[in-house]
Amino acid sequence: MTKGILVNYDYCTGCHSCEVACKKELDLPKGEFGIKVEEVGPFQYANRPGLEGTWEWTYLPVITQACDMCASRTAEGKMPMCVQHCQAWCMYYGEAEELVKKMDGKTRWALLTVAE
Ligand code: SF4
Ligand code: SF4
Repeated sequence: MTKGILVNYDYCTGCHSCEVACKKELDLPKGEFGIKVEEVGPFQYANRPGLEGTWEWTYLPVITQACDMCASRTAEGKMPMCVQHCQAWCMYYGEAEELVKKMDGKTRWALLTVAE
């Protein structure tokens, strides 16, 4: 079964706590990341139907090849460091098949997995 991290990124504030917690867990030097928060925007839609005048400002954490899904922590029944330290409680860890059931179609979700 594939493990994954599900992010409800409608609620991600871009606080970078997941990024910092992961760097500490993996003991990564400056410039290397296990997860990195990417930012889109801010910009305002001019003519996009239904979005005229709406601002876009989206954050989404992206996991890298260094991520091992916190194998040593999860083997002990602990949460991955990034999930544990998410300030907005918008990250979830578990079986990918179970996590997708949380996707409600009302907010924006991203499922992150790694090669095993
Ligand atoms: S699961 Fe662990 S290794 Fe992967 S991004 Fe989160 S903190 Fe980093
Ligand atoms: S810790 Fe949570 S709210 Fe903060 S940037 Fe990461 S995913 Fe977003």
